[in-house]
Amino acid sequence: MAKNGVAGAAGHPVRISTFGWRRGTTNRGSLTLPRIGAPRVRVSWQERFAETPDVLKSAERLQTVIPVLDFTVGGDEFITMAGPCSVETEAQLIETALRVRRSGARILRGGAFKPRSSPYAFQGHGREGLKMLAHARVESGLAIVTEVMSECDVPLVAEFADILQIGSRNMENFSLLEAAARSGRPILLKRGMMATVADMLRSAQIILDNGNTNVMLCERGIRTFETATRNTFDVTAIALLKQISHLPVIADPSHAAGNRDLVPALARIAVAAEADGLIVEVHPDPDKAWSDGDQSLDHDAFDAMMASIEPYLALRGPACSPRPMELIG
Ligand code: PEP
Ligand code: MN
Repeated sequence: MAKNGVAGAAGHPVRISTFGWRRGTTNRGSLTLPRIGAPRVRVSWQERFAETPDVLKSAERLQTVIPVLDFTVGGDEFITMAGPCSVETEAQLIETALRVRRSGARILRGGAFKPRSSPYAFQGHGREGLKMLAHARVESGLAIVTEVMSECDVPLVAEFADILQIGSRNMENFSLLEAAARSGRPILLKRGMMATVADMLRSAQIILDNGNTNVMLCERGIRTFETATRNTFDVTAIALLKQISHLPVIADPSHAAGNRDLVPALARIAVAAEADGLIVEVHPDPDKAWSDGDQSLDHDAFDAMMASIEPYLALRGPACSPRPMELIG
């Protein structure tokens, strides 16, 4: 048998085409198969995500705990953010804030600046919406998370919000990431709908590089060949992020599913995958919502969802406690 070949019919060597291979190739056209017992076949997570070292767990940094009003995200308490997709009216927002608080939410969500796929859809109330959110905070005691879409709006949104949301469509808007980072507000970084985990970690690294370590990573579903649901909930990404990153991980079952019937099950799956919290769309009358009604829960359904995650939260024990990257390998 010839060097670098394998035996073919009648003992003639067969060349293996290795065009395009990089690893394991000594020179183009020849393949070195790993020897049995070869010391390094598996690439460690640290090597794999070496470009974004600051977001990875280390001996110094096992878990980032982010203070927000009188509680923390990423600590012992599982945190739920809930509210309408869009801020519509004062009455809608206050009613929802009081109801989701009673069900156990800590943070009110609601878009004042809306990134809509259609230019003719409701684009949000802007500054007026932010004022309504601030009023709802006073009435309910909930913290506020809301999206900022443009770097020019960062000072305005940061004046009203406790947490700045960077939406899926803006995950790689680097000037927005830098401006949001410099506002000093905690940031909820939503995964781009076509972004890999490495892409999301790169965006998080940019925020950290700009002096802000208070970043929450949000899995909100990605586009795949599956069209039955709005997106595909990448639960593997949640488990992976919890394994490798010290940043809190928040799951968004609403945008993942696109359908309210699936939201409670995805919420329970997120808890089992060890997410630190949820962001869920809730509306007093979802069929009349100005945006994302199909995926919004009404108040009773949200209350039932919160009750349904409790047994799963109770199962989370010491097995979930973070381990340093050095031990993960
Ligand atoms: C939203 O939270 O309403 C939203 C627009 O989310 P995403 O950026 O994940 O689509
Ligand atoms: Mn929405």
